[in-house]
Amino acid sequence: MLKYRAHLSEMPSYDVTERDWQVKVNANECNLQMPPLVEERVMSRMSYVAFNRYPNTETDSLCEQIAAAFSLPRENVSLGNGSSEIIEKLFYCFGGRAHKIVYPQPSFSMYAIYAKAAEAVGVPVPLEEDYSLDVEKFVAAVEENKASLAVVCNPNNPTGNLLSLADIEYIAQNITCAFLVDEAYIEFGGESAAKLLSQYPNMIVARTFSKAYGLAAVRMGYMLADAGLTAMVQKASMPYHINVLSLVTADIVYQMRQEYQPRIQMMIAERKRMYEQLKKIGVLTVYPSQTNFLLVHYDGAAVLNDRLEAQGIGVRSFGNAPRLENCLRISMGTREENDLWLKSIQDFAEERQ
Ligand SMILES: *Cc1c(COP(=O)(O)O)cnc(C)c1O
Repeated sequence: MLKYRAHLSEMPSYDVTERDWQVKVNANECNLQMPPLVEERVMSRMSYVAFNRYPNTETDSLCEQIAAAFSLPRENVSLGNGSSEIIEKLFYCFGGRAHKIVYPQPSFSMYAIYAKAAEAVGVPVPLEEDYSLDVEKFVAAVEENKASLAVVCNPNNPTGNLLSLADIEYIAQNITCAFLVDEAYIEFGGESAAKLLSQYPNMIVARTFSKAYGLAAVRMGYMLADAGLTAMVQKASMPYHINVLSLVTADIVYQMRQEYQPRIQMMIAERKRMYEQLKKIGVLTVYPSQTNFLLVHYDGAAVLNDRLEAQGIGVRSFGNAPRLENCLRISMGTREENDLWLKSIQDFAEERQ
C-alpha cells in the first residue's frame, strides 16, 4: 500500500479532457488570438530571452508594472501560474486540519477541491434563490465557524452576478480572517476591490490573464495584498515558479493592455446581445451576467447539451452540482460563433414548442 497524503484518495479529479469542438464556449476563454501588434512584440521579445538564467529581472519587471498600475508598492504584488496557483496557495497557507474556509455555493468549483487538498474544512454558504449573496449570512458563517479564510468570486462564476463594492466592504469590515476576492472576470463588469486594500490588510485580490487578456495557455495570475501576507504566501511557493516565457509574454500584454479594450467591449456587447436573444426563448431562463459568459437554465438541459455536442458546440454543463441542475454555462465567442450556438438553441426550442 502506498502511503498517500490524507484526503487525496477521496478528492475528485478536475476533468479537463477536451474534444476538438467546432465552437468552443465551455471554459470562459477568449476565442480570439492576440492582437497582431501584441503578437509581433511578444515574438520579437522571445529572441532575446535569457534561457540560461533564473528569471529574476523578468519577475521584478512584471510585478513592478502591476504595482504601478494599482499605485501599490512592489511588496504588495506576487505572481502565480494562473490565479489558480494563487488561490491554491492561499488555501494551503490558511488551511490545515482545524481551519475552516468559507465560500459561496454555487461558485468556482475548485474552492471545495482546494479546501480538501489543504486539509481544511470547506464551508459553503448557499446563495439565495436568485443567486445573490446575502452578505450578512456570509459574515455570520465566517464568524460562527471561526474561519481562517473567506472567499468570494466577483463577478461570480458560474452565476455571472456581481457584488457591489459596498457589499465587499461590508464583508471586509465585519470579518477578521483573511478575505480573498477572486476577480477573474472583473474586466467585464464591476468595480475592483483593489482600492480597499489599503484600509483592510486582511484583504487579498486575485486577478488573471486567462480571461479578458486571452492568455489561458500562458498561465499567469497575480495577487494584490498586504506586504506581510504576500511574504507569507511567498514562503509557501517554490522559488522561480513562473517560467520566463510566461513572464515576458504577460509583461508585454500588460504594457499593451489598451489594445485589449476593443475586444473586451465587444465581448460585453455580445453578452448583452445574447442575453436579449436568449430571453426571447420562452422555455429557458437566462441569468443576468457581468462576465464573458451566460448561465442558462432549461428543464431538459442534458438533452439540449447532447444536441449542442452533436453539432460540435461545447458548452459547460454542471451535471448534478448543487443548485446548478439543468444549467448550462456558455462563454462569449466571436459574433459568428455566438450566432451558431444561438441558432442551435433556437432551433432546439422551436421543435419543442
Ligand atoms: C478561470 C478562473 C480562475 C483562474 O484561472 P487561471 O487560468 O488559473 O488564472 C480563477 N477563478 C475563477 C472563478 C475562474 O473562473
